[in-house]
Amino acid sequence: MVIKLVAREMLGQQYTKIPSSLASEHLKAFLKDGKLSLEHIDRFRLHNGRYYHASLVSWLLLGVSKCGEMLEKKATRGDGFSGEEVIAEFERLTRDAAIVQRDTLRRILAENAGVEYLRGLGLAGRTDPDSFRACVPLATHVDLERYIERIADGDTSPVLTAKPATSISLSSGTTQGKRKYLLFNEELVKSTMQIYRTSYAFRNREFPVENGKALQFIYSSRQFTTKGGLTATTATTNVYRSEEFKATMRDIQSQCCSPDEVIFGPDFAQSLYCHLLCGLLFAGDVQIVSATFAHSVVLAFQTFERVWEELCADIRRGEVSPARVTAPAVRQAMSSLLAAPNPGLADEVARKCAGLSNWYGVIPALWPNAKYVYGIMTGSMEHYVKKLRHYAGGLPLGAAEYGASEGWIGANVEPGTPPECATFTVLPDIGYFEFIPLKATSTAAGCYAEAAPVGLTEVAVGELYEVVMTTFAGLYRYRLGDVVKVAGFHNATPKLKFVCRRNLMLSINIDKNSEQDLQLAVDSAARAALAGEKLEVVDYTSHADMSSDPGHYVIFLELNTDAGAVDGEVLQACCDELDRAFVDAGYVGSRKTGAIGALELRVLQRGTFQKVLRHYLSLGAPVSQFKSPRCVYRSNSGVLHILAGSTTNVFFSTAYD
Ligand code: AMP
Repeated sequence: MVIKLVAREMLGQQYTKIPSSLASEHLKAFLKDGKLSLEHIDRFRLHNGRYYHASLVSWLLLGVSKCGEMLEKKATRGDGFSGEEVIAEFERLTRDAAIVQRDTLRRILAENAGVEYLRGLGLAGRTDPDSFRACVPLATHVDLERYIERIADGDTSPVLTAKPATSISLSSGTTQGKRKYLLFNEELVKSTMQIYRTSYAFRNREFPVENGKALQFIYSSRQFTTKGGLTATTATTNVYRSEEFKATMRDIQSQCCSPDEVIFGPDFAQSLYCHLLCGLLFAGDVQIVSATFAHSVVLAFQTFERVWEELCADIRRGEVSPARVTAPAVRQAMSSLLAAPNPGLADEVARKCAGLSNWYGVIPALWPNAKYVYGIMTGSMEHYVKKLRHYAGGLPLGAAEYGASEGWIGANVEPGTPPECATFTVLPDIGYFEFIPLKATSTAAGCYAEAAPVGLTEVAVGELYEVVMTTFAGLYRYRLGDVVKVAGFHNATPKLKFVCRRNLMLSINIDKNSEQDLQLAVDSAARAALAGEKLEVVDYTSHADMSSDPGHYVIFLELNTDAGAVDGEVLQACCDELDRAFVDAGYVGSRKTGAIGALELRVLQRGTFQKVLRHYLSLGAPVSQFKSPRCVYRSNSGVLHILAGSTTNVFFSTAYD
């Protein structure tokens, strides 16, 4: 703080000159025409912590020509973490939330004033919230798609952001059946590191770790190059590929105990096997067991139940199983870790496994220094908490932060709270947030009446809202489509409880399919498999069946002919086509890894949807407003009962066999 004041005083004006020869690549991003503004210094301090700030100040004061390089080295060495400083900064930001929000909007709009999307909207250089809301319309992905597509195709003009996007992120959602593209840039890397550091600082206060490593079940996704030469992959892979990721993981004692070759391996099953093997080899060092999503941890230990004897055999022999791991780079990386046979460790693991009852507490049994299990456990991941508790024995479960490929929203700063009650405190400098007030209407689940958006500090406790975000990555008043409830406030910033996705029907884990995605899948299957046979879909609905593990989608079709009169091969082809037609990345990835089971097609007797209609009418629904439910939830036992009693034929997809 003192240093900051000195710097302000020494600078004495809004800008001070920095010779560009002194600027490393890392710093050049913050330089405008060789000038460094106080705003940049503030951002350096906010995002990177006081250490960098102090270095920057000494650079300014002393003009040390090597300072840029020093900063670079520190950034990669990652020795700039102080949990208490991170918390102090977070407290300041959340106390001044309204001011910080105004300032964040000012910075986003000042930086991007000239971009095509904003030009012509009448902002005329204004950056205040009132002008912003008056001039810029609310938007969804559909409104932005054509701009993002142009950028992906190689348009380098400032379309959505002044600074060019560094890559494309593929969200797990879809827009009209196509995978959703979003821009990814350095700002998103920075905010990711900021939120990781913030959550960790609070977590570490409650569950301290020291010089530890993490058994992290993380995997990069496939990537491809867009027409315009940008890499396109998931947002998490974009983060893992960033230089800052490793340094931050070291800072927050969460370094993955597996080598990069495993994280970036070409095959999920091989990487998972190797993560488990690395976890056993570094068992004494592991203090955190984590994954981005809770279901990855559950999947890992379900796999462990099946392969533990093979893992022990590998450790005993000092060689990774040639049947399990075939990718040469992964094998090579594992060979150097498995330098020699280790029968002692193999015996110890086997003894511990044999001592477990139904795998309860396998995590603390094999990783005695683990302090907690960490990952996203809220929303669609809540389903996995029960199983996670089983594997974790008495270890605490920490619900990880709330964000999206679009940008981050909030950190869990009360890590001791059970995941079912976890809330996310919005970081007011990570984006500009608005909230659309929602009032549930009585007619159907997921239907809300909307009011005009309110600001971050204007939300009311207990109310529901849809999140709207304006980011440093080209989103302006973007409707995220998530419904949240305000659970309370941390200083002046709301604590959000995630409620659900709006317009989301089918979801087992990381997959997200809307009513429209289902409609597109049914249309596509009907075209591909049924139309040629003169078969038509009379009506359809769906259900996410979580009664067995892994869960799977069930699609119910009523056709214009009884199924008995239809060739079974035609219906099998229809089932396979339905499975393939759900193209959202979360679904496809989960199907490939087995985290979602084969899609089930149930063909219904003719007249089934009439029975469903009569059922709703008997409950008092007005016939004029009746719509066939497109997704039947577990709680709707009446309709599920009708569907089960009317099913004539059942098929399971072979599309991913
Ligand atoms: P994606 O677009 O694939 O990055 O997924 C982002 C979406 O996942 C968000 O909009 C939320 O719906 C959901 N999500 C992310 N983090 C959480 C969380 N901590 N709790 C519940 N849902 C989450």
